[in-house]
Amino acid sequence: AAKAQPHDDHQLHLFFFPFMLPGHLIPMTDIARIFASHGTKATIIATPQNISRFQSIIDRDDHHQSINILKIDFPFAAADLPPNCESLDNLPSRGLTYNFSKANSMLHPQADDLVSRYRPDAIVSDLNLPWTAEIAHKYGIPRFTFNGTCCFSLCLTMAASQHKPNVKVNSETEPFFVPGLPDPVYITLSQLPDRFFGKTGLDEFFEKIFEAERDTCGVVSNTFFEIEPEYVKLYEKVTGKFVYPVGPVSLFNTKTRDVAERGNKASIGEDYCVSWLDSKEPNSVLYVCFGSLCEFTESQLLEIASGLEASEVSFIWVVKDSEKFKFLTEEFEERIKERSGILIKGWAPQVLILNHPSVGGFMTHCGWNSVLESVSSGVPMITWPLFAEQFYNENLVVTRLKIGIAIGVEQGLAWGEEEKIGVLIKRDRVEEVVTRFMKGGGGQNLEVEEMRKRVSELGELARLAVNKGGSSYVNVDNLITDLSKHRRNHRVTLLE
Ligand code: UDP
Repeated sequence: AAKAQPHDDHQLHLFFFPFMLPGHLIPMTDIARIFASHGTKATIIATPQNISRFQSIIDRDDHHQSINILKIDFPFAAADLPPNCESLDNLPSRGLTYNFSKANSMLHPQADDLVSRYRPDAIVSDLNLPWTAEIAHKYGIPRFTFNGTCCFSLCLTMAASQHKPNVKVNSETEPFFVPGLPDPVYITLSQLPDRFFGKTGLDEFFEKIFEAERDTCGVVSNTFFEIEPEYVKLYEKVTGKFVYPVGPVSLFNTKTRDVAERGNKASIGEDYCVSWLDSKEPNSVLYVCFGSLCEFTESQLLEIASGLEASEVSFIWVVKDSEKFKFLTEEFEERIKERSGILIKGWAPQVLILNHPSVGGFMTHCGWNSVLESVSSGVPMITWPLFAEQFYNENLVVTRLKIGIAIGVEQGLAWGEEEKIGVLIKRDRVEEVVTRFMKGGGGQNLEVEEMRKRVSELGELARLAVNKGGSSYVNVDNLITDLSKHRRNHRVTLLE
């Protein structure tokens, strides 16, 4: 028998391994908290800088006694990385992505040591940490993966990659039909996710992810069944794995402080932000944010700035890299202040902003968290995808759910080669879409009002899903029940 006594304690114990990137770390910490609120013990394994991004939320959590944080050290030197870049959004250059991935795989021995000491009942690992599969296998622990996106995008990715070799199109931007899906879906070659990371040298890493998935027991997903029922079922059918949709996990944050500090300390005072929004009419403000990894060129930033200003719509625009923005910031900021715009340079309290009744639209890059957060707040979207599966998410939002309009990006960016593209969308287009969306050309804009109605209804379904008895709530319980059964069976095997 094993020397550790894994099953003395009757409380189930889950280990959570988040990938160090806000779009993955934030929902994973929420998921750990949700499981703790359903009676399990939850341990989050992370490095110091990442821990500092969620420590205070855990400390305030009503079930903090059931949540454990275990620190592992980030191997900067061994991976040839400068300090202070434990998260992908803090890398000084995209050229260091390979080193970042190397550093992540170097966490394996520290993680192995922790699992061997604590012997959790299950591992919930980010897809991007394939070595957790080896650990799970070594200790006979069921492993579930978290992949950060929706089942629609996962199904489309699989269907498109199977179909792609036979595609006959005249250009990169000519739409082609993707067979095998519940809806008629069209995409273009220039929107395929696999090309965005094409030159990062990570092929071997992607191969490892693929291998690791084979042994995975199931998928814990930040989605909710009602937003994509056919795709949850299809993904289960195609992969043969159980999917447990437990989202939208952002709704688990009910305390204002948690909402305001989710993911990082905000670069704007919470009171200032809220009182500024309070001073605006309902649905009159456009929130503009392109996620945690966006690298626009200066020329593209200038086009957005000019388009927003010309639209005369009130807006909050989040610019991640204030260095890059220096070229117009002071003068521009003064001018837009007078006309009701604010810039957030750094980290925005996104959910706090989206939840405010004055916010009537979200110009988003369609990262899956952002889409779900917009849905949860009942805010329709202007979609501006950048890379990865964001074009697929846009497809879901615009074509299937009909809760957003596309600004019209035709081409995805290649990771690390953003400068090559220059300007994707010009100022006139920004102005035109923003004006049409927020002001409706004078009078009421029926198209947008219908979207608002649909997205509000979906937001209501999202809330029902996470409330007691709702689909996501029940899925958490189902996974716990499945694990308890597994533990009982495992115990029987040990006794035998
Ligand atoms: N986020 C935030 N403030 C910011 C930028 C991002 O709170 O200034 C949060 C956002 O609410 C979401 C996550 O970071 O939860 C970003 O995830 P998403 O999938 O939307 O995009 P990614 O950053 O992974 O491209």
